[in-house]
Amino acid sequence: MDWREILEQLEAQLASLERQGVGYLNLAPDQALARQLSQASPVPAAATGTESRGRAAQLAARLKGGTAVVTGQPPPEPAPPPEEDLSRPPRVASGGAASLDELSAEYGACMACALAGGRNCLVFGAGHERSAIMFIGEGPGAEEDQQGLPFVGRAGALLTGMIQALGLTRDDVYITNVVKCRPPGNRNPQPEEIAACRPILQQQIELLDPKLIVTLGNVPLKVLRPNAAGITRERGRTFSYGNWQVLPTFHPSYLLRNQAAIQTCWLDFKLAFRLAYPQPGG
Ligand code: SF4
Repeated sequence: MDWREILEQLEAQLASLERQGVGYLNLAPDQALARQLSQASPVPAAATGTESRGRAAQLAARLKGGTAVVTGQPPPEPAPPPEEDLSRPPRVASGGAASLDELSAEYGACMACALAGGRNCLVFGAGHERSAIMFIGEGPGAEEDQQGLPFVGRAGALLTGMIQALGLTRDDVYITNVVKCRPPGNRNPQPEEIAACRPILQQQIELLDPKLIVTLGNVPLKVLRPNAAGITRERGRTFSYGNWQVLPTFHPSYLLRNQAAIQTCWLDFKLAFRLAYPQPGG
């Protein structure tokens, strides 16, 4: 049979299968269509006319595109996605929010992870849109979930007091958490919940563009620096995350349980203030 007739028959059969919604074909090599496919692709050397080459190339492209598979075996499993390099800021498919308010509205009804089902309020973050300091905790607790504001429970009162002791108010700084919905029983957020919420945190950082990020406790430290040793070793030691300088310190709820650590944490807060608000000539 002439190759042009093979092409025409093949195109007609493929078009018919596509109309039926067929995504791929698993053909035994001795089936008629399989024989035709192997005869018609690659493009026959005899194709000389421009129109004929075009049709043959189109058909080859359809075949390469996975419209049909000429094999007795199922198609191979897709390759696993490359492992994410967690030491770098993730590339975020930004929704194009131009401000934190827009971003908050964009994610106001977020259902991207299981935490959505148990929340009363999504706790996006609060504070000054141009703050030099951004505090990042791990997730909202019961009080925060009720009020929709970060750090408003006992730990929040301690954080507020330390901010005020620096001569600032909560309205001068920006406070948020790694996850925006309350983990049940105040447990730590799970890796898949952190990953689901990561685009929001990343966009918050980019929009705020603070001079200094202060991570509170182990969870946000490990999000921004996965290979960090742990908060007890890392606190008070700055590191870079993308374009931003980060200072890890203890979570206020840890300070409530270990009041001896408050003095150490206070040193970190004073360092944070100096880094975020450098004095001329200082
Ligand atoms: S925790 Fe984050 S990702 Fe999960 S539902 Fe809440 S806002 Fe969405």
